[in-house]
Amino acid sequence: MHMKSIWATLLAMLPVVMTEENIGDARREMVEEIKMLDEATRDETGREPISERVLQAMRTVPRHEFVPPNEVSSAYRNRPLSIGHGQTISQPYIVALMTDLAQAGAEDVVLEVGTGSGYQAAVLSHFAKHVYTIEIVEDLGRDAARRLQHYGNVTTRIGDGYRGWPEAAPFDAIVVTAAPEHIPPALIEQLKPGGRLVIPVGGQWLGQQLMVVTKNQDGTTTSKEIVPVRFVPLTREKKN
Ligand code: SAH
Repeated sequence: MHMKSIWATLLAMLPVVMTEENIGDARREMVEEIKMLDEATRDETGREPISERVLQAMRTVPRHEFVPPNEVSSAYRNRPLSIGHGQTISQPYIVALMTDLAQAGAEDVVLEVGTGSGYQAAVLSHFAKHVYTIEIVEDLGRDAARRLQHYGNVTTRIGDGYRGWPEAAPFDAIVVTAAPEHIPPALIEQLKPGGRLVIPVGGQWLGQQLMVVTKNQDGTTTSKEIVPVRFVPLTREKKN
């Protein structure tokens, strides 16, 4: 074989090396895709566009640091990725949408149920005074705690988020990233008046709806269906 073609073959075999520059490009492209998808779904729902501040955070958070090593080259594709234990890190578009719907402000305290990789918590940390995030699978919770340790305003815990996080309540916003069949009552209780609960609701077979439940000043709630989604189920701690 000719020397030149040997080199060409060897080069083609090299995995794509992620440099700072192409990581930045990949992240910007991911956000362009999020914007396109957002526009397409808005035709159906008539929602406001995902805000620029959320898109800017999506251009900043290093998603590749939250995915397993074998998924790093897919980190900026707009699709869910496996994080082990049968769990997935949501599609970036859904992370952006849920963050936008949570409407967190600089003084807000936010709860996330379903830490998974920690990525959604990292994105939320850009908007809140403090983010509490709870994960039921111990291994996932531990890995996410390590990834999030330099995020000064994020606290992690291992446990059953169906019961919320009473010691840190009440919350201005709660984001749930696993689907229960009904809304956990504790999450409504732990919401401040005016607070938002962003949650996929429904079974694994009949489909789920992403919902925003707002707690009114008089304690009643107002619910709005946003889009059909597919999340892993919210599981419950085994009681022995
Ligand atoms: N937000 C995550 C993706 C979550 S996938 C991310 O950004 O990567 C859903 C996660 O919810 C899984 O890790 C699953 O183990 C967790 N989960 C399911 N039921 C739960 C419960 N009752 N309490 C806390 N976490 C739960």
